[in-house]
Formats: sequence, structure tokens, C-alpha cells
Amino acid sequence: MIIMKFGGTSTQDAAAMLNVTEIVKSHLHKHPFVVISAIAQATNQLEQMCNLAKSGDLEGGQVVLKNFIKRHLYIVNQAITDPVEKIAINTKINNIGEELAELIRGVAIIKELTPRILDKFYSYGELLSSMIVYHIMKEKGIDSLWIDTKDFMITDDNYNRALPVMESVHDKLISLTGDLLKEGKTLVTQGFIGFTLDGDRTTMGRESSDFSAAIIGSVLNAEDIQIWTDVDGILTGDPNIVENPKKIKVLSFEEAYELSLLGAKVLHPNTMLPALEKNIPIHVFNSKRPQISGTLVSNSANTFTPQNASVIKSVTYKTNINLINIRPKVRSTPFVFWEHIFNLFTKYKINPLLTSTSEFKFSAAFETKSNIDSLKHEIGEIGDFKIKEGLALISLVGSNVLHDYSLNEKIFSEFRRTKINFMSFGTSESSISFMIPVDHFKETVRRLHQIFFETQDDSNIFESLQTTNIITPDKEA
Ligand code: ADP
Ligand code: ASP
Ligand code: MG
Repeated sequence: MIIMKFGGTSTQDAAAMLNVTEIVKSHLHKHPFVVISAIAQATNQLEQMCNLAKSGDLEGGQVVLKNFIKRHLYIVNQAITDPVEKIAINTKINNIGEELAELIRGVAIIKELTPRILDKFYSYGELLSSMIVYHIMKEKGIDSLWIDTKDFMITDDNYNRALPVMESVHDKLISLTGDLLKEGKTLVTQGFIGFTLDGDRTTMGRESSDFSAAIIGSVLNAEDIQIWTDVDGILTGDPNIVENPKKIKVLSFEEAYELSLLGAKVLHPNTMLPALEKNIPIHVFNSKRPQISGTLVSNSANTFTPQNASVIKSVTYKTNINLINIRPKVRSTPFVFWEHIFNLFTKYKINPLLTSTSEFKFSAAFETKSNIDSLKHEIGEIGDFKIKEGLALISLVGSNVLHDYSLNEKIFSEFRRTKINFMSFGTSESSISFMIPVDHFKETVRRLHQIFFETQDDSNIFESLQTTNIITPDKEA
């Protein structure tokens, strides 16, 4: 069996959903289990409607809700032909609209939006899109079955970034699927959302439908986890920023993990973990050009790179990064100081992207969305600190990056022109990272891309894209 996960841009309208159905149809012989994300922008709309309600703008929230429901009804009206079926699906969508309207009213009254309630809101995006795709597939002759993640995707109650309880997921999914796939049923479910044992909806972090696909794939021992998106595969740079990205043919799990962790939006970083454990390949394919080969993420990727050879495969970035520098108030022993700091990170569940220590100084890079404010008070008790806000983190990702000294010259020739606030060189064999002022990040990414990918051509690893494939800038975040 295979997993086929379709992202928001692959399900954004009726034509896209019909296209998904055709792609699934052409893979029926492989027994697909289909994982569907919310339609493009739907999760953002859900977030917007409840935030408006929370701020007291109930009317604003209702307008967003109306538009959200209208988009789904429009898709059904265009994609489903049977009038009876159409009415039945529209009724389900309108019922969901009423549930959401009630929730919004509740948030507007109490003016509070807890992570638990936010997850309840979020869940409707995937519930609706997967339900519509399921009905379209059925109408187009695919023998399919819609499965609610509440019946198998059991998670902890860490709302907004829950993690699966793998034993429960395993037992429930195995008993739920039984021989259905073997018998030719195509199963359709939601990405992103889960359920606690106490019966609450959870989500596993924004963009985590890829992770859902990998979890299901690993439990069912899939032969392939296919991530269908709107670009030809994993590219040498973000196509919204660099002009001539190339497709990377193969990456190791480690390279893909590092790349996504350091910013490349194309895969959620957690996706690689379940796949790696079972050594299941991940393919990234373009749903708009299903005929092309995509990118393979697999341990066999290592065989494409001569052993110990140094290779840079992509340049990536993250913005909205803060840097904290801390010095202890009392110079006792350095390890006591470090212990204090790491205890605080653990206590407040703060996960630094990079850290560096030098005896009595400690620096760490965080995403601004980390809950750093919560620990400021306690850090202040043990040390003096400064926070530099609004930086960008730029990383070069590949394998054995420290082996080829000639890379140093290439990299630092670029950084002659840009201030470096912080860098990580030597911690990982798969990446080199620099923090710089955010105003320079686009030119820096572009120039590094030129230096590393636009002058050399290694057809074992990279493949040129046709210019027609360059996608429009600044689409959905
Ligand atoms: P989906 O909705 O299918 O999950 P995403 O928007 O999450 O799709 O991820 C695909 C997008 O990731 C692409 O459209 C592209 O803009 C962006 N992206 C950023 N960096 C890269 C990269 N290195 N390779 C491919 N895509 C990238
Ligand atoms: N719909 C969710 C989001 O927008 C999950 C996903 O698309 O992967 O974050
Ligand atoms: Mg995504």
C-alpha cells in the first residue's frame, strides 16, 4: 500500500480536487490511503475567525466564516454532478457552518481562546476538505471510505502541537483498516488533526499533514509515502525567492529533516522521523504535473553521493528569529549556569534552533513564536541578558559539509558584505547556518543560491526546472 497526501494547494478548488481524484485513480493498483489537508487558506481563515471573535469583533468573525463555508459549497456545486448527493453534502457543510457559528459566539462572549478551543476550530478545515474529496472520488467511481482521525490518530493533549501516542495509533489503525485496503477500498482521512483519549480534537502543528501521512505510512508499513504539492519536488531554494531553483533528485532523511527544520516549507520536519524508523521512502510530487518524477527522500540517497563527498543541496532560511545572549550574575561554575538555563528551556518548553556557549556566556536562537517572554523573568534572576530581535537564519544544507575546505571560501566570500550576528559551523555535518539582519536576507539567499547552484551542474543530484514551472511568489503562508 502507499500513502498519498495532498496539500492545500492541491485541493484549493473544484478543478484541483477533480485532479486529485484522477491522480488517485491512476494509483489504485497500489492500494492508496489518502490524506487530505484543508483547502488553501482555510486553516488561516479558521484562525482569523476565532481571533476576531476573541477580540470582540463577532461580526468580523462571522463574515470570515460565511466566506469559508461559501468556498466549500462552491467546490461541491462545481465538482459534484448528482443533484441528490449535492444537496446531502451541502447540508453537511451548512451544519458544520452552524457548529462553527456557535463556537464563534462562545469565544466572543468569554473573549478567550484557549489552545484547546483553537484546535476544535482548526479541525473543521480538514474534516470538510477530506469529506468533499471522498464524495468526489466516490462519484468518479473510486470505491472509497472516509475515516475520521478521531477513530485512530490518538495524541497527547499538548494542544496546537500534539504528538501521536504511537501504541494507540497503531492498535486502532490496524483494527480499523483490517483487510479494507487489500480488498480494494481507498481510504480517505484528514491530515493535521488528532484526538485525545479524553475525546478532544488536537492538531500536531501548522503544516503537519505531511507528518500525519508519515505516521499512517509507518504504522501500515507503506511501500511509499507520497507528498503531493504544488512544486516539482524539493528544490535548491525557495522558488518564491530564488530565480532559478533546481529540483533535487534525492535527499537522505537527514538532509530532508535538516532542510525542513531550517526553513524549507515543502515538508514538515517531523515527517522524516516515522519514515526513517521503518526506512520507508518519501516522494515529493507535483499534483499539477503528476507525470514528472519528483524528489525521493530515502536512505538510498546516500548511494547517489560518493562516500564522504561533500555536497550542498539547498539554501534555506527562516525569518522572525531572536537571539538571546546571557551572562551569569554570579560566576560560580559554568555547568551550574548551563544547568539553570537548560532547566528553564525545559520548564517552558522552549526549543532553541541553535545554541552556543563559551564558559560564562550563552547564546541561543529562537523563533519569535517561541514563548520566550515566559522565561525572561527567571532568566533575569540568574543572569543579565540581551535579546536581539528580527534576525534571519540562513542555512546551507547537504552532506559532509565540513569535509570540503573549498566551501569555506565560497561561503565567506558572500559574508564579506553582510554582518553575521551568530553562526553555527561544525555542529552538524548536514548544515551550516548564519544569523544576519533580516533586511539582507533575500539578497543573501539569492547570492548563495547563485554561488552554489547556478554555476555548476551535477546531473546526478540536480535537475533543471522548466521556466513554466516557476510558481507565483508569496502564495499561502
Ligand atoms: P502544501 O500545501 O502542499 O502542504 P506547502 O505550501 O506547505 O504545500 O509547501 C510547498 C511550498 O513550499 C512550495 O510551494 C514552495 O513555495 C515552498 N518551498 C519553500 N522552500 C522550498 C524548497 N526548498 N523546495 C520546494 N518548495 C519550497
Ligand atoms: N491545514 C494545516 C495548515 O494549514 C495543515 C497542513 O496544511 O499541513 O497548517
Ligand atoms: Mg505543507
